[in-house]
Amino acid sequence: MKLKQIFIFIIALLLLFEWISAYFIGGLFGVVSWWGIIGGSILGVILSFICFITFLLKLVRRKKISSSSIILFLLFLIMAWPACWLLSIGNLPYPAKIDSTKPTVSIELPFKESVTVGWGGNQIETNKPHVLVPNERWAYDFIMEPHSLKSKKLNDYGIYNKEIISPVKGTIVGAYDQEKDITLGTENNDTMAGNYIYIKIEETGTYLVLAHIKQNSILVKNVQAVDVGTPLAKVGNSGSTSEPHLHIHHQRQNPATTSMYLSEGLPLYFHNINGSSMPIGGEHGEVISPKKEAIQ
Ligand SMILES: [Zn+2]
Repeated sequence: MKLKQIFIFIIALLLLFEWISAYFIGGLFGVVSWWGIIGGSILGVILSFICFITFLLKLVRRKKISSSSIILFLLFLIMAWPACWLLSIGNLPYPAKIDSTKPTVSIELPFKESVTVGWGGNQIETNKPHVLVPNERWAYDFIMEPHSLKSKKLNDYGIYNKEIISPVKGTIVGAYDQEKDITLGTENNDTMAGNYIYIKIEETGTYLVLAHIKQNSILVKNVQAVDVGTPLAKVGNSGSTSEPHLHIHHQRQNPATTSMYLSEGLPLYFHNINGSSMPIGGEHGEVISPKKEAIQ
C-alpha cells in the first residue's frame, strides 16, 4: 500500500471508531470519543484547507487530481464538520440516550420562588448550549423576570443575588466563591464555571454542579452535610456567562477530582414543582415554581 492509502485507512478507521463509540458504546468511552471528534475538527479544518489549496494549484498547473486525494479530502471534511458547531451550523447533541442513561435523579427546585428555564430539557432546540457537552447533556440555566435586558447593571436582573437552597440531601464536595462577577457583555472570566458548589447526592452517590455563583456568598463548607432547603449561596454572574443565571447539572463523576472531559452527564428531573419534571427552556422556556410550602 502507498503511504497515502495507509493514511486514508488510518483516518477512516479513527473516525469510524470515534463515531461508533459515541453513538453505540457510550459511557466514558463515548465521552472521550466525543471530545476526540470535537478536538479533531480543528485539525480537520487545517487539513481540508491544505487539501483545497493543493487541488487549486493542481488545477492551475493542469495536473490530475487522484481519486485517493479526493477520498482524503472528503475524510478531512467529515473530520472538520464539528468545527461548524461553533457557528451553530449542523449542531448535534451528545448522543447519550435519556431512557438508558442511569442513574437519574429527581430534585427539588433550588429556589423558594418562581424561575424561568432559560435552557433545559432533552432536545437541542430547548437546551442548545448544553446538549453538545457530555457532562452538561441535561443541564439547566435558570433565570428570573426581568431577564434578557440590555442593562449592564447586575441588580436589574431578576435572579441576581437571589438565594439558592439545596435541592437535595447530600454532602458538599466542593465550594468556591473567590471569583468576581464579570461585567455584562464582556468575557473577562477566569474560569468557565466561575464560583461553584458541588454536592454529592445521598440517594444516588452521583453529583450536582451549581455554577456562576456570586462572589463571597457561599454559606456552606466542604464535607458539610446539607438537607433539602439548606441555604447555599446567592446567584451571581461569575465565569462564562452572558447574564446572571444559575447553571445546574447532574454527573456521574466527582467534579472536584475529575476533568469535565472525563465526566458523564446524567438525566436530571424535578419534583414538588408546578411544571414538568424535565422543564424545557429556549424560546418558550417554562416558568416553574416550588409546590411545597415547607421550603420557606
Ligand atoms: Zn449552563
